Amino acid sequence: MKSPSLISLHGGHSGQFCCHARDRLEEIVCAYIKKGFKRVGITEHIPPANDLLRYPDEIEQGLTARDLYQRFARYMAEVTRLKSVYQSDIRIHVGMETETYAGYLFHVKQLIHNFTPDYIVGSVHHVNDICFDYSRQEYDRAVRHCGSHEQLYLRYFDLQFEMINHLHPFVVGHFDLIRIHDPAYEQRLLAPVIQERILRNLSLIKKLGLVMDFNLRPLARGEKEPYLTPSLLKMIKKLDIPVVPGDDSHGRDQAGGHVAHAIQILETLGFDMCWPEPRLLPLSD
Ligand SMILES: [Zn+2]
Ligand SMILES: [Zn+2]
Repeated sequence: MKSPSLISLHGGHSGQFCCHARDRLEEIVCAYIKKGFKRVGITEHIPPANDLLRYPDEIEQGLTARDLYQRFARYMAEVTRLKSVYQSDIRIHVGMETETYAGYLFHVKQLIHNFTPDYIVGSVHHVNDICFDYSRQEYDRAVRHCGSHEQLYLRYFDLQFEMINHLHPFVVGHFDLIRIHDPAYEQRLLAPVIQERILRNLSLIKKLGLVMDFNLRPLARGEKEPYLTPSLLKMIKKLDIPVVPGDDSHGRDQAGGHVAHAIQILETLGFDMCWPEPRLLPLSD
C-alpha cells in the first residue's frame, strides 16, 4: 500500500519575517523539498493591529506595527515568489496565522482583503490581550486576570468559538494550546463545563467543514504529545473532522519534523489520509 504523502499545513515561520524564528524562508522551503514534501502550507504570523499588541521580542527590536505590516507585505511577496520558483518540486499553499486580540476581526478581514492568501490558520494566542503562550510568566498573568485556570480555559474556548464563527479559518490551529503551561491539563480538559465548550467548538468546526491542525511543536520542544491531546483526538475522530499535521516550524531544522510520526498516529486511529485542499472560505459578517 502506498504510504500517505508528507504534509504540514501550519508552519514555515522564518527568521526573515518573524522575530522568534530562524533562517530565511527559501532555506526552509528547500528543507521541505529535501525531506520529500510535495505540498506544504506556509503560515507566517499576521502583523499586530497596533503598537500595543506587539510581541515582546518585536518591542525589544524596536519594530513598530507599521514596520511589521511592511515586513508582512514582504513575506507575502516572497512566499508567492517561492511558490512559483519551486512549483515543479513542491506545491506551496500561501497562508497566514491569525490572532484574537482586541479589534482582530476587522484587522484580519482587512489583511485577507489586502493580500488574498490561499487560506488562513485560525489560532488563539491571546486571552484578554495577554499573550499567554509567550512565557510561563505571561500565562500565570492571564490566569490571575481571569481568576482561575478554569476561567482562563473557558475564556479561551469562547474566543476560539467567536474567531471560528467569524473568520471560517480553513485550518483551526493548535486547538488546545491553552494547556501550554498547565501541568494539570489532562484532568482540566475533562471538566464538564470545559467539555461543553469543546464540544460546541468542535460541532461548529464540523458544520463549517474546517480542518484541525495536529500541531507538532510540543514534540520539537521535547514534550510528550502534540496539540490535540489523545482525549480530544478521540472526540474529533468520532465527529469525523479531518486532521492534518502541522510542524509549526520556526526554522529549517524543524521543517517537516515529526510529520511522519504524526501521520502514523493519525493512520492508526483511522483518520483519513487524503489531505484536503486548503482554500479561503466565504466569510459571514
Ligand atoms: Zn511563532
Ligand atoms: Zn500559533
